[in-house]
Amino acid sequence: MKLTIPLVTAITAASMFISLPASLAHASIRSEQLPAAVETQAEAEANPYALRIELYNKLNVLTDIPWYWIAAIDQYERTISKVKPKSRPPLGSTVGVFIDQERWAGILNPDAQDSSPLSIRFFDGIGRDADGDGQAERTSDVDLLYSLVNRISAYGATDDDIAIGLWQYYQNNRSVQRVQQFARIYAKFGKLDLFEHAFPVPVGNNYAYKSTWGTGRSWGGRRTHEGTDIFANHGLPVRSTCYGVVEVKGWNPFGGWRIGIRDLNNFYHYYAHLSGYDKTVNVGDIVKPGQIVGWVGSSGYGKPGTQGKFPPHLHYGVYSDRGLFEWSFDPYPMLKRWEQAELKRLGARN
Ligand SMILES: [Zn+2]
Repeated sequence: MKLTIPLVTAITAASMFISLPASLAHASIRSEQLPAAVETQAEAEANPYALRIELYNKLNVLTDIPWYWIAAIDQYERTISKVKPKSRPPLGSTVGVFIDQERWAGILNPDAQDSSPLSIRFFDGIGRDADGDGQAERTSDVDLLYSLVNRISAYGATDDDIAIGLWQYYQNNRSVQRVQQFARIYAKFGKLDLFEHAFPVPVGNNYAYKSTWGTGRSWGGRRTHEGTDIFANHGLPVRSTCYGVVEVKGWNPFGGWRIGIRDLNNFYHYYAHLSGYDKTVNVGDIVKPGQIVGWVGSSGYGKPGTQGKFPPHLHYGVYSDRGLFEWSFDPYPMLKRWEQAELKRLGARN
């Protein structure tokens, strides 16, 4: 079950209703503005998020859209540009938004490079001037992000209004769901710096893993192995590797008791063959790196409850969202990095 929006079959705005999980309405941090990250120029240069915080706060004033929605839109755009660098080259320097020329200037605009706010408006382009230089420029960070947020804010600034604005802009449910998920993560933690990671089981314990990505599997026909197996005893805690939102939880014939967590890189982290879940973790919950979500087991390869068809291990996979479908990639190098970083931190503490 996905806790975000119902499937939209009829593509009409009038018949569409997108409701948010109640938990978003009660997110612990609901302030409209982000706390300033820095006070001085030197601090600003040392903090890569300082420019973004300033920009999001400024756009919040201009559009009434809360900062965590603006941050979520910008971050979603950034993740899609990252996986489609050819069709979505960088336009701004701080902002991750991509808007193509036609959409910016208006489809019927004879001047595809138009930067005049007046004629862009006339041709129903979305380009706007927000940095005050009289030009609506696709390469200006402020103009770029403002133009997108402004278009979405045309439907209003409540959570439901924003969901409708997002749907009108992207015309697909996946994009709306992603931006909603990102907004909830940002709102919960009240900051942008949410890219720390943890190894999926407590380091220093008895476990073993090696690179097993792409090898054959025996059960369920011909499938290649999309992940890394971490062999450990039954009951070793399984932890979230990232800041993220629980997207999936429950039985799957292949993965057994499994849990799926979405992070701000738009990666889906998949943990399978668990013996059980931490009772406090449910679909829609926001988690942080190192937080226990379940325990190592040997569930899977059959009907719900099947166990012991193979030695206990955690199957850990990571999938990258490419916009309309997902792509698995080898998590082994990341696992090695996270494990080393944690061992180092532990060593420094002793
Ligand atoms: Zn596996």
